[in-house]
Amino acid sequence: MLPSISRPLRVAIIGAGPAGFYTAEVLFQSGVSLEVHMFEKLPAPFGLVRYGVAPDHQKIKNVIKVFEKTASDKRFFYFGNVTIGRDLSVQELKKFYDAAIFCYGAEADRQLGIKGEGLKGCYKASQFIGWYNGHPQFADEEFDFSHETAVVMGQGNVAIDIARILCSTKEELAKTDICQHALDMLAESKVKEVHIYGRRSVAHVAFTPVEIREMGNLQDCCPVVDPADLVLAPDSIKDLEELANAFRKKDIEILRSFTAMSQGGRKRKFFLHFNRSPVEIIGVSRVQKARFEINEQGKPSGKYEEIECGSFFTCIGYVGEPIEGLPFLPQKGIVPNLKGRILEGEVPVKGSYVCGWIAQGASGVIGTNKLRAQETIHSLMEDLALLPGCETPDTKEMLDLFKSRGVFAVTFIDWKKIDAYEVMMGSNLGKPREKLIRVGQMISVADGSYKQKGTLSS
Ligand code: NAP
Repeated sequence: MLPSISRPLRVAIIGAGPAGFYTAEVLFQSGVSLEVHMFEKLPAPFGLVRYGVAPDHQKIKNVIKVFEKTASDKRFFYFGNVTIGRDLSVQELKKFYDAAIFCYGAEADRQLGIKGEGLKGCYKASQFIGWYNGHPQFADEEFDFSHETAVVMGQGNVAIDIARILCSTKEELAKTDICQHALDMLAESKVKEVHIYGRRSVAHVAFTPVEIREMGNLQDCCPVVDPADLVLAPDSIKDLEELANAFRKKDIEILRSFTAMSQGGRKRKFFLHFNRSPVEIIGVSRVQKARFEINEQGKPSGKYEEIECGSFFTCIGYVGEPIEGLPFLPQKGIVPNLKGRILEGEVPVKGSYVCGWIAQGASGVIGTNKLRAQETIHSLMEDLALLPGCETPDTKEMLDLFKSRGVFAVTFIDWKKIDAYEVMMGSNLGKPREKLIRVGQMISVADGSYKQKGTLSS
């Protein structure tokens, strides 16, 4: 099909996170006559920016202004609270759209696969982050902070986010958009020590300088680093000179500065441990200890050590999950693709594309998605003349289908009502916003029913 003003290209984007919004932005810049319809399983847009970025990183959330500009384009339509693969199948989606671009991210936690991982007090990164960031799926999670020692496994930025939240004071968190239920619980936390573990040496950490530096600037927490861990092997010294490792070189400088820090009057401590592979989480009814094998020169040494702890957070990366009707590579947790074209075996699936973490795996920063979106849209533009065109270019028919299935599709105007409500609730508490943590609450603000009832639905 060749798009025209009278018959614009109908593009569906599945997922309203950074990859989805950058994909829409790049599409609008393409010069092709088109409409973008964005689908999101939750009522609220912005995915990882709303539900993943730490609440004390408000500046990173400023990217929402860029996304809102994209959403203000008259060719943009938003359908929140619609799950593709449940409310509308992939097959049905293809009936209504000439091209579908899947940008639904990687939300499942990678598993350690060790004994004791399911014990009470063992938490996945997504559980804790989702809980303090108001993700409806995690609204009812329960956490115990009545102990003094927490272990965080993994040395990426997610691990640092979790450690920082655990080590922050109530005052530091109160001015953020952390959910009130989390703020109240964390304010009562008895955790005094947070221990981050990595299985490799300091030359292989995955966190970045801005994030590790913040650990030295907390009000009531002091970082503790063993200088012996910062002695580098000759191979590592060479590797760290590579441009791709520049961030690690900077990380190590920052960690060196930590060795000179004194605790002062700060009550909490944040420890970094290297060359420790987790082998077991030990406990009777809940986690009591974690056991690690010590690695020497990058190899297991057969020597072990244990730490007593009351909680164990697994932060070892995320993987994507399949949607029925889409090819999927379970070993990598991605949708197989070549430059954004979804592949069935070796063959591109006509009109089906992918972008972001579900295409490449969970890596990079928010801005990385813009480059990835450019690549995917370049592929789509190359394929334009080959697209067969959809069977039913009729949005009303699709909306009727939603109605018949009892699906309330949230528009962007609806979302702006929810947004305004949250900001108003937040201002009462001296915060940027207080998030609605239940889908029903958001819908009752979107459809105005809370005004008649005088209360939010649950
Ligand atoms: P990540 O950067 O991939 O880090 C994962 C960590 O887990 C690594 O230290 C890795 O060590 C370790 N690990 C993996 N499998 C393991 C296993 N089986 N046993 C022990 N350790 C294991 O993942 P992430 O922290 O989840 O972050 C995901 C992405 O989001 C990253 O690109 C990150 O930079 C980004 N992010 C950015 C920010 C920010 O900019 N402020 C905040 C949060 C997240 P090995 O290297 O040994 O595998």
